[in-house]
This record gives sequence, C-alpha cells and structure tokens, in this order.
Amino acid sequence: MSVAKQLYQLQEFDLELESNEQAQQKIAGQLGESKEIARVKEKLAAEQQHLEELNRQQQSAEWEIDDLTVRVKTSEDKLYGGAIKNPKELANLQHEVDELKDRRAQKEDGALEIMDRVELATANVATMSDELRRLEAEWQSQQKELSARLEQLKSARSDLTNKRELMLAEIEPQAIEVYLELRKQKGTAVARVEQGTCRGCQIALPSMELQQARSGNLVRCSSCGRILFLA
Ligand SMILES: [Zn+2]
Repeated sequence: MSVAKQLYQLQEFDLELESNEQAQQKIAGQLGESKEIARVKEKLAAEQQHLEELNRQQQSAEWEIDDLTVRVKTSEDKLYGGAIKNPKELANLQHEVDELKDRRAQKEDGALEIMDRVELATANVATMSDELRRLEAEWQSQQKELSARLEQLKSARSDLTNKRELMLAEIEPQAIEVYLELRKQKGTAVARVEQGTCRGCQIALPSMELQQARSGNLVRCSSCGRILFLA
C-alpha cells in the first residue's frame, strides 16, 4: 500500500472517530432528566394542591349550610310551636329565621361556585396526569433507544481505535508527523486527486505534481500543502 493511501485510510478512521465522538456527546446531552416532564410534574402538583384546597372549602361550606339548616329548624320549631305568644317575640323570631335563610342561600350559591371550580380542577388534574404518563412513556422508550445507540457507538469507536492503531504501526513515523501537523492546521490532511484537481483546494495540479502523486509517494499539493492521494 502506498504511503498516500495509508494516510488516506488513517484519515478516514480519524474522521469517523470524530463524528463518532460528536454523536456520543450529542446523546450524552439527551440522556437523563427531561425538563418537559419536570415542568408538567410541577404544574400537576400545583393543580392537585389547588384541588385539595377547593375540596376543603367545599367541605366547610357544606358544614356551614348544615349548621344553618339546624338553626333554621330550631327557630321555626319555636316560631310555629305555639309556646311563644308574644307578638314582638314572634316577630323577632320570624326576622331571625329570614336572616338565617338568607345566609344559607348565600352559602349555597357559594358552594355551587366552589363545586364548579372543583369540577374544573378535577378535569385539569386528569388531563395533566394523562399528559405526564404519555410523556414518561415516550421518554422511557427514547432513553432506551439512546442508550442502545450509545453502546453501538462505543463499540464502533473501540473497533476504529484498534484499526487505527494497526494502521499507525505500518506507516513511517515521518509521514505520520506530516499528517498530524496538517490535520491540526487544516482539518483534512490528505486530499483526493480527481480529474487532475486537488479536492482539498479545488485547484488543478501541474502535470509534474500529478505524476509524482500517481507514484504513491508522499507528495503535497503546491497550492494548499495537503498530501495528495490518487485512488
Ligand atoms: Zn490542494
């Protein structure tokens, strides 16, 4: 194998290792807690708390209504029981009953409003719980896929690293030095030659250079300095 071809293959391993590394980093960023799930959980907890508070309000409104009903009954029993004959006392009692009934009616209106809000909050909690379950299921299967993909990438990387090591052992050290320096400077160190043109800089090569490159020796493009490789 010519040194140019060796270096070209080395570069292919290196470029693949780079993209492997990038893919692994991207996955690492996607693994772990989901911000969306955390946000929905927080909203759900707040709505559940709101619902509990409404339930307490409803309960206490019902107790107050029951209490008023008992007091209405007690006062009406006195009013219609016949034991009280004094007209002024009866008038006071009637007034008290009317007042209690007014208060109870107001409480009942309030209780109905609370009931509407309880219904709404209950529906909200159900919707959010469904949403949370859906997101969690989606997230779990996504995490599983990502973990599997990460394992694939890791095994591909170790395979590539081994092949690269074998390749490196076969290439003369001076050529490797030139290659590594060019990689650092330009990203791609070895450029293909196609139709007499260096694909690294897209400039047509003089025929002397082209001939030298054809020999497979380490020849560098006179325009961009990259190592030329003719397939
Ligand atoms: Zn060039």
